[in-house]
Amino acid sequence: MLSARPPRPEPLAAVSDAPLAAVSDAPPAAVSDAPPAAVFFDRDGTLVVDVPYCADPDLVTPVPTARAALCLLRAAGIPVGVVSNQSGIARGLLNREQVDAVNRRVDDLLGPFDVWQLCPHGPDDGCACRKPAPGMVLAAAQQLGVAPGDVAVVGDIGADVGAARAAGARSVLVPTEVTLPEEVATAPVVRPDLLAAVQYLLNTPATVTGLAGVR
Ligand SMILES: [Mg+2]
Ligand SMILES: [Zn+2]
Repeated sequence: MLSARPPRPEPLAAVSDAPLAAVSDAPPAAVSDAPPAAVFFDRDGTLVVDVPYCADPDLVTPVPTARAALCLLRAAGIPVGVVSNQSGIARGLLNREQVDAVNRRVDDLLGPFDVWQLCPHGPDDGCACRKPAPGMVLAAAQQLGVAPGDVAVVGDIGADVGAARAAGARSVLVPTEVTLPEEVATAPVVRPDLLAAVQYLLNTPATVTGLAGVR
């Protein structure tokens, strides 16, 4: 909450008869944004605790507010999806069966998701799907029949924000210890956890959502 206003610059003193309230009545930009038509989440470091090149479903651990955040979206009737870079496949560190098994565990714990998109390529493959390229966001939106500009992407690093930007989508960055300071500094929107990110997207103040029901 930004309650402090910078001092008004001198030239405006000439119109100081105009009530300040006329200026501050305008709602913040975020309030006028419609809720997203769908929300796509990064998997590792966003929905679940990042285990690099995870091949073991038993190591899947949702982040603390993942269930509550997803529940809030589902209660609002907003489709949810996963868009995940899995370059471990291209690097030969994982096979597709292992990734699918981990994804099934994610779906058991946090699903059902309305759409899954996965990039198996490496950084040098020049594919259109590896974030920050927009391919997975565009494909997921198309699968749901919604416009990319109406969706939001939630992720933990700059590549997630970049994929959203490249697709014309909104984004919310939820940083972890691996998030670079410049990624935080350049992200349009940053929130401390998934629940706060979803509350931001739904314009739902934390104090009035009756969260007891979704924890
Ligand atoms: Mg991530
Ligand atoms: Zn790819």
